[in-house]
Amino acid sequence: MIYTKILKPTDENISCCASLIKSSDIVAMPTETVYGLAASAYDKNAVAKIFDAKGRPQDNPLICHISNFDMLLNLTCKMSNLLYRIAERFWPGPLTVIVPRSDCVLDIVTAGLDTVAIRFPSHIVAQKLINECGFPLVAPSANLSGTPSPTTAAHVYDDLKGKIKAILDGGTCKIGVESTIIKVDDNEIKLLRPGAITIKMLQKVCKNVTADITIFNKPDENIKVISPGVKYKHYSPKANVILVDGSLSQFKKYISDKLDNNTFCVVFDEDQAHFKNNVLTYGKDSLSQAHNIFSVLRKVDDLKANTVFIRCPQKTDIGLAVYNRLLRASGFNLVKL
Ligand code: AMP
Ligand code: MG
Repeated sequence: MIYTKILKPTDENISCCASLIKSSDIVAMPTETVYGLAASAYDKNAVAKIFDAKGRPQDNPLICHISNFDMLLNLTCKMSNLLYRIAERFWPGPLTVIVPRSDCVLDIVTAGLDTVAIRFPSHIVAQKLINECGFPLVAPSANLSGTPSPTTAAHVYDDLKGKIKAILDGGTCKIGVESTIIKVDDNEIKLLRPGAITIKMLQKVCKNVTADITIFNKPDENIKVISPGVKYKHYSPKANVILVDGSLSQFKKYISDKLDNNTFCVVFDEDQAHFKNNVLTYGKDSLSQAHNIFSVLRKVDDLKANTVFIRCPQKTDIGLAVYNRLLRASGFNLVKL
């Protein structure tokens, strides 16, 4: 059993974590999206430890996190004009690009695909850690596979204590949902996972932006998906999640005979006064809902709820990211009123 330390992100502690990573260990780091579980992207044994600690399926590839443009040039064999424009405009920030991989990328990182996922985080602690290492870090969310993503050091500790040596505590993640993921081709962007970089923002650098069907629908088992991660259950608390799409009055009516000691509802801040008991709120607008959603899903389990009815968020801008995470947390259990 490993003793897991929660460390303040001082320069000394960041150096200490970089040393751990250089000797094939894995550590959790804060980013602006969610906490990541970091290992050297160039160290096969260390990357294997990540799959092990998270219980992540081997065919679900990892994102390489960089802190300068030289690292990008090392990881991809094709720098298109569009990729330059995207990198210039959105990095550092919550955007991951899927691009053709170079020879130095390990098969275990890409799950054997001929593309690689790359992101340049804006969080200063993540940047310092990558800089101190001097190589890219793979860093999937620092939770057990399938559970709500971690947005505080305490969430990471709850899931991974005894499995990793250190967690750099950077406080609560600013954004709260994972990065936007796009596949970048010569003149085309395909949105694979919505996040804080929205479709409208992407359209400023490329007119041709399309959203992958798996953002809204459960992938058909017989169809080959672009992003292997979408095949798996994600973000789910132990409680059964039901996403309910309707106005406040429709929602109230729908759940009126359903709440009991073990059944909760999660609504917008302004809805709260309409419910007496067993109610949680997750924000007043899409930005705050993104910030809070994973904490609330974890809270649902702390309360030992069996079932939770969640009022469906807006499906535009960053709201689309919240909607997508809730659809997946519910296993696509969406009730349309
Ligand atoms: P996570 O690390 O949990 O934020 O998830 C990363 C997501 O990126 C997963 O859904 C992966 O399937 C996806 N991903 C990583 N690399 C690739 C790639 N080369 N092509 C398509 N999707 C990828
Ligand atoms: Mg994840």
